[in-house]
This record gives sequence, C-alpha cells and structure tokens, in this order.
Amino acid sequence: MAATPDLEAFRAEARAWLDESFPKSLAGKGATLLRAEFIEPEGDLAIWARNLGEKGWGTPTWPAEYGGGGLSQLEAQVLAQEMNRAGAFNPLTTMAGMGITMVGPTILEYGTEAQKRMHIPRICKAELFWALGYSEPNAGSDLASLQCRAVDAGDHWVVNGQKTWTSGADRAGWIGVLVRTDPDAPKRDGISFLMMDMDQRGIETRPIQLIGGASPFCETFFNDARAEKDQMLGELNAGWTVGKRLLQHERQSQTGTAGMGGGSKKSLVDRAKEYVGVDERDRIADPDLRSRVVAHMMDAKAHSLTLKRVVAEAKGNAKVSAAASILKNAASKVAQARAELDIELMGHSGLGWEPEGFEEREVAAVRAWLTGKAMSIYGGSYEIQNNIIAKNILGLPENTQRG
Ligand SMILES: Cc1cc2nc3c(=O)[nH]c(=O)nc-3n(C[C@H](O)[C@H](O)[C@H](O)COP(=O)(O)OP(=O)(O)OC[C@H]3O[C@@H](n4cnc5c(N)ncnc54)[C@H](O)[C@@H]3O)c2cc1C
Repeated sequence: MAATPDLEAFRAEARAWLDESFPKSLAGKGATLLRAEFIEPEGDLAIWARNLGEKGWGTPTWPAEYGGGGLSQLEAQVLAQEMNRAGAFNPLTTMAGMGITMVGPTILEYGTEAQKRMHIPRICKAELFWALGYSEPNAGSDLASLQCRAVDAGDHWVVNGQKTWTSGADRAGWIGVLVRTDPDAPKRDGISFLMMDMDQRGIETRPIQLIGGASPFCETFFNDARAEKDQMLGELNAGWTVGKRLLQHERQSQTGTAGMGGGSKKSLVDRAKEYVGVDERDRIADPDLRSRVVAHMMDAKAHSLTLKRVVAEAKGNAKVSAAASILKNAASKVAQARAELDIELMGHSGLGWEPEGFEEREVAAVRAWLTGKAMSIYGGSYEIQNNIIAKNILGLPENTQRG
C-alpha cells in the first residue's frame, strides 16, 4: 500500500484515537479474550467495546450514516495496521454473533431504508447477538428443501417449523430465518428471508452439546411465532438469492485460519521440539514429523499470501464472490492440518480430555482439534464448496446438487 499524505494523516488520527480509547491493559490479549464463541465483556473490555462501537470502527467501511466508520478500504487497512501495532482487536464481531460478518452486509445490500436505520446502528455497536436459522433436520446441504413455513396473517407473518444447528440461538436477540412462503412454487422460488425478534413466546431453543464440550448451538422451534410484515429482507419469495448472498459473506469471513491450535503462544515448530526433542542440528528430531510440519508451514504461508494477493489485486475493494469457497476450503485444510499435527506431536499428552494429568494447553489443543472439525461443515460443507467451485468458477456441468 503506497503511503499518501491523506493516508498518513489518517494513520496519525487512528494512532491518536487508539492511544486515547484502547485500554493498555488489553494489549495483545485479543486471542485469549475472544477465544469463546460468546463473550459478555466486563471492565476494560466493556469500555473498549463501547468506544469502538461509538466510533463505528468495529465496522470500519460501513456507511457512517448508519453508525459505521465510513472509511475507505485503504483507510480500513491502515486502521487494522495501527490496531495491530497497539495490540488492539475487535471484540464487536464476536459479540454481534452473525450480525457484523453476515446479516449486516446483507441488510446493507438488500434492506429497505427503514430496515437499515433500525438494524445497522445496533449491529455496529454489537448491542445484541444475531443468530441465523437456515439448516433444518432434513435440509442442510440441500438447503432448498427447507420446510419451516411462514403464512400471511394480514398484518404479520405466522411462522411454524424447526431449525437446527442454530449458533447462539439461546442468547440471540434477533434471528434471520429462511422460511417457505410459497409451498406450490419450485423449491428455490418459494423461500423468503425473515428477520425475527427472539423475545417472544413462539420461539423456543434447546442447546445441543458438541464433541468439543461446548454447547454453541441449538435446535430452534417456531410455534406460531410472529414476524412483522416490514421485517422481510428482500422481496417475497426471493429469499434464496438473499440467503445465498449472506452465505457468501459467511464464507468470506471464514477464509482465515486464526484461532486454531488451542491458543498456544508457541509456534508449531517450538512445540514439536519441546515434545519430540531435537537432533544434532537443532531440528525436530523425528524426520517424518519434521517434513510434515514443514509441508504444513508452506501450505499455511501460501494460503496467507494468497489471501493478501486477493485483497491487493482487488485494490483494497474486495467484493464477496464464489471465490470465497476456494479460500474457505483452503483455510479449513490448513487449520485442520495444523490442529492434527499439534495433537500428534504431543504423543500421549495429546489424548487429554479432562485437566487431571494434563496441562491446560494440552487439553485446550485437544478440544480445539475436535471443535475445528466443524470448520469444514458450517457455512456449507467442504464437498458443497467444491460443487460451487466446479459449477460457478470452473464452469463444469451441473451435478445433482444445484446452486
Ligand atoms: C459449528 C456449526 C455451526 C453451525 N451454525 C449454523 C447456524 O448458525 N445456522 C444454521 O442454519 N446452520 C448452522 N450450521 C449447520 C451447517 O450449515 C450444516 O451442518 C451444513 O450445511 C451441512 O448440513 P448437514 O449437517 O445437514 O449435513 P448433510 O447435508 O446431511 O451432509 C452430510 C455429508 O454429505 C455431504 N454431501 C451432502 N450433499 C452432497 C452433495 N450434493 N455432494 C457432495 N457431498 C454432499 C456433505 O458434504 C457432508 O459431508 C452449523 C454447523 C456447525 C457444524
């Protein structure tokens, strides 16, 4: 990125603001503080979240008129560099659930003016957690088979049906739901996208426990639930287009590999040396493990350079597209390979499930390895991304999974 006088002036402004608004006590603690799927900030973290939300810099490129930062892509990059330099991080993305990464960008693209004014400022400040109700017991990869039904009751919609795997539904304030509004139309043509207030008797959630120990998602039941007429995102029966666009935003947000590996501060190489020992040239003692660690590091480097190149080629104006499927699959492979190696190099210490007899970071690595399996499932599975790449990027013929 070439330095221009305007950008350097903005850099000085960002630096001064961070100096004043980011509590020094939090510097460098982002990875630890944001490790959980859900956070309820207290103390300095709460102060930082409020400052960031009020400035709009948790959503730096969103329009200022709706509470975003109103920055250009290049300014946002400078802000990211300065936040990095200060050891700062963005807690709002986690606090807002699917709000900042997916729902907000889709409202900005498809929402009415009233919907933007109602929802975007609250998303920018992460005032509430947004959930997403897409998947159903019989509609996961084949999402267009969804059966959750919305019926027109005159001044509102009445929703009945069940969703599953709904991340954070038990703590969500609002939820975006794909519903069937025309059961007689071909399946993709009879779907609409409704935004619903979770604070009502018609919606019930039951948490599901994951193999990694946490309960990050729920079964969500709609029993004569109410959605307001003005809360349909996009046109009636055009929800497939809106919903697909939102998924592209989801995949775009899943193209990095950060957060895997149990949050250990040491590099994979240092951890391998610690557990496996070193040879006479101070290399990882086991040659087979060594070559696989090196191969992984090359893949990880290639992935991170590719991400940077995509942003640079777009001249800072990166738009979501089907290419997000390639980067999401690559990110899943790299992150899962790292987690596998991390477990393997620990030998029997990588079998810990409960803290007794194991170090905290060993148990954390095992749980992260198991949790990481979800990465190639959520947002559309690995195989489904390959189908999208085959059809929408390579132009190969349609298979049984259309879309
Ligand atoms: C941690 C996590 C969080 C999630 N959060 C949410 C959420 O907030 N909201 C929500 O709505 N959903 C959520 N999901 C659900 C997720 O979107 C679905 O699990 C995913 O789309 C796969 O659907 P499924 O589980 O029904 O698997 P299935 O569709 O039954 O697929 C099973 C297997 O068959 C393969 N397969 C299926 N069809 C094809 C095909 N045509 N070609 C090749 N292979 C195929 C799949 O790749 C997969 O390996 C979440 C899932 C996870 C793991």
